[in-house]
Amino acid sequence: MLSRASGWPKLLRCAATAAVGAISRFSIRSSRFAEAASLLVLVALAAPAIASVTLDVRAGEGMERVAAGIRAGDPRRFDSVMDLVGLNDAGAPILVLVAPESSPLAKRTPSWISGYAVPEESFIVVFPQRAVRYPIDGMEELMRHEIAHVLVHRAAGGHDVPRWFNEGVATVAGGTWGLTDRSMVTLTLARGGARSFARIDEMFGEGEPAVGRAYALSGAFVNDLLQREGSDSVAGVLSRVRDGAPFEHAFVRVTGMSIYRAEERFWRRRSFWNRWVPLLTSSLVLWGAITLLATWATAARMRRDRARLAAMAEEEERETRNAECETRNEERNGDSRMKNGE
Ligand SMILES: [Zn+2]
Repeated sequence: MLSRASGWPKLLRCAATAAVGAISRFSIRSSRFAEAASLLVLVALAAPAIASVTLDVRAGEGMERVAAGIRAGDPRRFDSVMDLVGLNDAGAPILVLVAPESSPLAKRTPSWISGYAVPEESFIVVFPQRAVRYPIDGMEELMRHEIAHVLVHRAAGGHDVPRWFNEGVATVAGGTWGLTDRSMVTLTLARGGARSFARIDEMFGEGEPAVGRAYALSGAFVNDLLQREGSDSVAGVLSRVRDGAPFEHAFVRVTGMSIYRAEERFWRRRSFWNRWVPLLTSSLVLWGAITLLATWATAARMRRDRARLAAMAEEEERETRNAECETRNEERNGDSRMKNGE
């Protein structure tokens, strides 16, 4: 499926805008050029209109400020998520419940869950006080993650997709795939963790540590899929599911390989360097290295200072000795002059 971000309709809209601007600035006389520009404008107008996500935000007790912040956000901030799943029209408004810790919703939801989506009902629940748990890093990321679940559901026409795929897309949609995620994958694999998507789906039902690892592995696979098969691969799979294809068939049509083959290749690519390079460049290891370097630099400087002080002391002692010798010589010379009656 053609992605809006990289597709030609967007380019044509840019070209049309440039052409119209040129006409107004330089008063083009060429009728042929004017015709071409008009054609571009018409093609641009025929490009699919983008209907961004609209939100209906409801605040729980004490959550008015957070809710106001969500309402005040750029209405187009979820357009990139729409691109990812292949939607030009986000559909009906999504109800957002901003729930405080004191709410009944929060009390019956495990404390390590920052939010959840009920896509078929077009609503999401967010717990702002929990929006700093992996893989979530702040309200904006939490919102993008949960909105992505609703959009995946809509892009798939309401058909089921595997949990690992759904969470992987939401994790990638939530924010940039960074060192924390790669380190989490590395540590999970180093511990001999899950090696199949079926196992990852099980991990989502096993409590906090396993869920964190399941998010990391799902996100890693979807990120890998986007890099290898193209930025429109997720949208391609979802559009085929929407057209009625089982997920496994849709996956084969887009990638040219079965889920099992893709799974096997993905794990095989997690070679030594893939496992350890992200860990070696993780912030923890970097800070450790910086601390070691700083300690080494301090010790080296102390050694240099001690050597310089010793040299200065030696120099001072030599100068003192020379001065004493000169004084004694002057005294001796004075005595001999007195004896000679000078
Ligand atoms: Zn999720």
